[in-house]
Amino acid sequence: MSRATTDERRTRRPGRVYVTTVRRVRRITPRMARLTLYGDELSVFSSQGSDQHVALYFYEPGVELPRPFTAEAARALLPVAQPRLRRYTIRSHRPELGEVDMDFVLHGPRQLASGWAERVRPGDEVIWFGPSPAYPLTPLTDWTLLLGDETALPAIGAILEELPPGHRVLAVIEVAGQEEEQPLPSRADATVTWLHRHDRDHGDLLRDHALSLALPPGSGRVWGGAERTVVRTLRHHFVHGLGLDRADTHLTAYWTKGETQDSEV
Ligand SMILES: Cc1cc2nc3c(=O)[nH]c(=O)nc-3n(C[C@H](O)[C@H](O)[C@H](O)COP(=O)(O)OP(=O)(O)OC[C@H]3O[C@@H](n4cnc5c(N)ncnc54)[C@H](O)[C@@H]3O)c2cc1C
Repeated sequence: MSRATTDERRTRRPGRVYVTTVRRVRRITPRMARLTLYGDELSVFSSQGSDQHVALYFYEPGVELPRPFTAEAARALLPVAQPRLRRYTIRSHRPELGEVDMDFVLHGPRQLASGWAERVRPGDEVIWFGPSPAYPLTPLTDWTLLLGDETALPAIGAILEELPPGHRVLAVIEVAGQEEEQPLPSRADATVTWLHRHDRDHGDLLRDHALSLALPPGSGRVWGGAERTVVRTLRHHFVHGLGLDRADTHLTAYWTKGETQDSEV
């Protein structure tokens, strides 16, 4: 069994339904909204660290939800009302305040989650299930490579905050333009490269940059999140082209061009 699999099993805990309320909404960049959610249950939220994500539940307007709303209640409601699910990352968790932050890329007011995140206000209810098991950061290899577009920025930010002092990290992040860059604090020895898409297609710059990267010497791990076709190319490159162990290559399709996430969940 690989090291990563052993660690993943160690950190796996069952998810549950959380019923939370929006406490704050702010634009951290022109196209990224940070929502702070609170709820009594978040003081005991079982944080998995790093890139843990949750599934937000979106019911049709007018659906009356049973209270208290639990996973069992959601299951019982299925014949009448099915939620549409959207995956989002826990950017940070403050148990002492019963708060979590989630960051939403604003890619279109008519899209389900993105449009909702543009309109949401303090006091609105947010229901979600999770968290997923997180990416295991230990045991450490000599270096870590983080690759992503803006949807992966919350996970990359969380991973950078967790990696220990002195650990060598290369992060390559594609965003729409310079105005979409954000501070990414880290105690690690991190070099962050921002790629500005401007009018190029989503993921082209990230893919081209990643394919031409010279990896540092020693053992390493690659983590990435981006559009599906980009992720497929990167996975092929690192596993088949460069011969990295699959267990050390954690690349996830975060969204699919031309398709809603309904088809994937
Ligand atoms: C594990 C995981 C963690 C994720 N974490 C985050 C996160 O923390 N923050 C975040 O913003 N996203 C995150 N995503 C991505 C997010 O779930 C998708 O972007 C999702 O499709 C957004 O839902 P929607 O309802 O806005 O759009 P959908 O209804 O799913 O899609 C509508 C249309 O928009 C397009 N589209 C979807 N996303 C984008 C995009 N970013 N840019 C341009 N076009 C897009 C689709 O191709 C489709 O044509 C994560 C995904 C995964 C799998």
